[in-house]
Amino acid sequence: MRKKTQMIHGGIPRDEHTGAVSIPIHHASTFKQDGVGNFVYEYARTGNPTRFALEELIKDLEGGVRGFAFGSGMAAISSVMNLFSSGDHIVLTDDVYGGSYRLMTKVLAKYQIEVTFVDTSDLNEIKEAIKDNTKAIYIETPTNPLLKITDLSRISSLAKEHQLLMIVDNTFSTPYFQNPIEQGADIVLHSATKYLGGHSDVVAGLVVVNSETLANDLHFIQNSIGAVLGPQDSWLLIRGIKTLAIRMEEIEENARKVANFLTEHEAVTTIYYPGFEEHKGHEVHAKQARGFGGMISFDVGSEEKALDVLKKVHYFTLAESLGAVESLISLPAKMTHASIPKERRLELGITDGLVRISVGLEDVEDLIEDLQAALQ
Ligand SMILES: *Cc1c(COP(=O)(O)O)cnc(C)c1O
Repeated sequence: MRKKTQMIHGGIPRDEHTGAVSIPIHHASTFKQDGVGNFVYEYARTGNPTRFALEELIKDLEGGVRGFAFGSGMAAISSVMNLFSSGDHIVLTDDVYGGSYRLMTKVLAKYQIEVTFVDTSDLNEIKEAIKDNTKAIYIETPTNPLLKITDLSRISSLAKEHQLLMIVDNTFSTPYFQNPIEQGADIVLHSATKYLGGHSDVVAGLVVVNSETLANDLHFIQNSIGAVLGPQDSWLLIRGIKTLAIRMEEIEENARKVANFLTEHEAVTTIYYPGFEEHKGHEVHAKQARGFGGMISFDVGSEEKALDVLKKVHYFTLAESLGAVESLISLPAKMTHASIPKERRLELGITDGLVRISVGLEDVEDLIEDLQAALQ
C-alpha cells in the first residue's frame, strides 16, 4: 500500500460489525467478560477499541510492530523513558524540544537517569558521549527550532554496535515524510498534537516500537502509568491522519515558497530551512526523508525586531505549537525554549531575534504578503 492510501486504509479502517467507514467512539470504561479471563477488551486503560484502531494505524504508518497512544507527546516521552532504570545514561540531541529537555533535566534527574546533550548531527560527539552505562540515543531530526539534521542510518549502526536503543522523535517530519524504523530506529515517537492531528484541536502522543519485547514492555508501562489517550481524542486523530498526506504536500509547497521569499529579504540575517542546498543537513535529510516539512526559522537580528514582526503579522497566529492548518509564528527564546537557560540557548544558536514559523494551508501569496508587510 502506498503512503497516501495507507493514511486512509491503514490500521482498522472501518467497523467490522456495522461496516461504518468511520471507527466508532467507544466510551465504555469496562467490557463484559464471557467467563473469567475470557475477553477481547478488559478495561479501557489496558485497551480500548477506538484507541486500538489509532494504535494500529500509526503502527502501519511507521512500519513497526506495535503502536501506543498517550494523552500528550510528553506523556508518550515520559512513558518511553520509563523503560530505563536509575543509573542508566542516555545521549540526546542538544536542541531537543524544550519540554523534553525539562523532563530529562528536572524530572528524570530525580530518578538518577543520567543524560548528556550533544550535537547528534556530529557522529564523533555521540561516540565521545557513550559510556558503559549508556542505554539509548535519543534524537530529533530535523530539530526544533534550528532544523539541524541527524543521519539516521549512521546513528543506527552506532547504536547497534554499542547495543543501544535508538529513539527518534519524528514529530517534525511526520510518518508521511520520514520513517525512522526503516533506517534502524527501535522506537519512534510523535507529539500527535502537531501535524498528525493537524487542526489545533487535540493534544496527544504516539509511539511505535519495532520489537515484541519493546511492545510488551511499553504496554506494561502504558497500563501501569495510565497516561492513555481517550476515545474521543483517538477518533479525532484518526480523522486528522486521513488528510495528513495531502496536507503535508501542500504545506511542503507553501513552505518552499515562503523560504524562498525570506532568503531574499534584507531584514533576514540567517534562515534555517533544510530544503535549501546550502543548509548543512540538506543532503542527509534528502536521503532519509521524502519532504522538508513546513518549519522555517529565521533571524531578524534582535528581540526588538522579532517582537515587531510578531506584532504585525495577521495570518501567522502568534502561538506555541506547530503543524496546524493555520500558520503559526513564535519566538523560541521566549516561548518554546524559555525553559532552557539563556547561556545554553545562545550556545545552541537560539538567539533572541530568532523567529520560528510553522507554515500552514492558507494561500501562500497571502502568507508572503503578510511577512513582507511585517518585515518592512
Ligand atoms: C510539541 C512537541 C512535543 C511535546 O508534545 P505535547 O503533545 O505538547 O506534549 C515533543 N516533541 C516535539 C518535537 C514537539 O514539537
